[in-house]
Amino acid sequence: MMHEADLVANTVKRWLGNPISRSLLKWVSKRTEKGSKLEVALKKYVGEAEKLSFQEKLAYLIVKLALDRGSESFGVSKEQMIESLKLPVVRRGIANILEGIGYYGVQRPQTTAAPFLIVWNFTKQCNLRCKHCYENAGSKPSPDELTTEEAKKAIDEFADAGVVALSFSGGEPLMRKDFFEVAKYAADKEFYVSVASNGTLITESVARKMKEAGVEYVEISLDGFERTHDEFRGIRGAWRRAVEGIKNCVKVGLDTGVATTATHYNLKEIPKLIDFVEKELHARRFIVFNFIPVSRGREIVDQDLTPEEREELLEFLYSKLIDEDCRLDVFSTAPQYAVTSFKFAFGPVVATHFTNRDAMEMLKGRTKSLTEFIGGCGAGRLYCGMEPNGDIEPCVFIPIKVGNIKEQRLIDIWRNSPILKQIRNRDSFKGCGECEYKYICGGCRARAYAYFNDLQGPDPGCRLNERYWREIAFDALKGYPASEVKEERKITVTSP
Ligand code: SF4
Ligand code: SF4
Repeated sequence: MMHEADLVANTVKRWLGNPISRSLLKWVSKRTEKGSKLEVALKKYVGEAEKLSFQEKLAYLIVKLALDRGSESFGVSKEQMIESLKLPVVRRGIANILEGIGYYGVQRPQTTAAPFLIVWNFTKQCNLRCKHCYENAGSKPSPDELTTEEAKKAIDEFADAGVVALSFSGGEPLMRKDFFEVAKYAADKEFYVSVASNGTLITESVARKMKEAGVEYVEISLDGFERTHDEFRGIRGAWRRAVEGIKNCVKVGLDTGVATTATHYNLKEIPKLIDFVEKELHARRFIVFNFIPVSRGREIVDQDLTPEEREELLEFLYSKLIDEDCRLDVFSTAPQYAVTSFKFAFGPVVATHFTNRDAMEMLKGRTKSLTEFIGGCGAGRLYCGMEPNGDIEPCVFIPIKVGNIKEQRLIDIWRNSPILKQIRNRDSFKGCGECEYKYICGGCRARAYAYFNDLQGPDPGCRLNERYWREIAFDALKGYPASEVKEERKITVTSP
């Protein structure tokens, strides 16, 4: 008997993935100087478009059919669809998905027409010296960082490509003097703008300035309580200042999250830390970062959690997420979190670590289909990273350059990079490729690369890949050389 997920996938495939619909979607998404017909059609769908030309009317009918059928297949009501499409950022997101279906066909999991999210390591400069830093950040910016004008040009390029969300990270993004100017420029272009910060520079006035610039979400790292955090972050007093930073963000009404990278240093503190963040700091989100032994993190590779510890932690986090007495949204960047959530048949499903409460509500009680469509690890498929000098990478934790924004168009990199094509092909992954959850989760590609130098290797952090975990020689992995950004053409990848 056909599994329900296959039925839904096949229905969507028939409606949107057949050659005629795909050609229509491609025609609708084609960009002109006036923008794309797809954007006008989406405005019309929510009742916001004025007079349409003949071509735009035709585009509207095609888009309406696609949206009506798509929402029906995934069990989302038309009213829900219209309500969410009223937000420009959501319209841009749906346009990105539909254009992706037109270009790539219906896939499991789906690749969008352009990255949904770009995490931008805005500078290499940082005022802390964290043990696990994936950027090997230091006291000085790197000499080749994008200038303010180049940064704005990159944002224009992202807008043209249809990118939806921009997250400023680092180093410490607030170390750059032009941060507010560039963040505002992005917000004015209707990106969903967020910031990942160590929090130590966020006074009340800085928090206010972030809000005024149009930043929607701030995520501040807290790796445990004071002693653990300061030891991990390399500077005494870092914890107190980070806590102040969190309080200041909450005070000025910024949507605020707290992020913790889970290792043996802090595993036992996490339950109490969640309580503290909820009850004392009043943040809205708590997110546990998967530890990835890259760059400085390679020095502490033996502090990584075992697959068993990770599984227990994810189950605990999920129990907090569904606990009605806990007001925090508790997430993890471990793609196995999607599997943990999926195993609780009636709870909300966490389809990817770039998720939020609204997306989760939509997925509540759904079948595997949407989860497989969104698909866990988003590297090179829904998301990519950008270095301070404009180098594009599949994920900020994967130090492989697949292009540079000053030299190439984002859309060309996204469509043509052999590395990105490989990372999207889950069937050829070692270990994860044989797993029944490969479309929901896919394993963290950064961990596969960090541990096995193979983007299509197994993620050894999973119970189902335990045999690979036992192969790892931690001592052999220590040292800095593997942190250097490598050029795409020098990388060997396993063929599908
Ligand atoms: S084996 Fe890989 S795809 Fe399957 S659950 Fe584990 S990490 Fe995810
Ligand atoms: S490789 Fe995938 S799962 Fe791992 S951090 Fe990057 S996006 Fe997340």
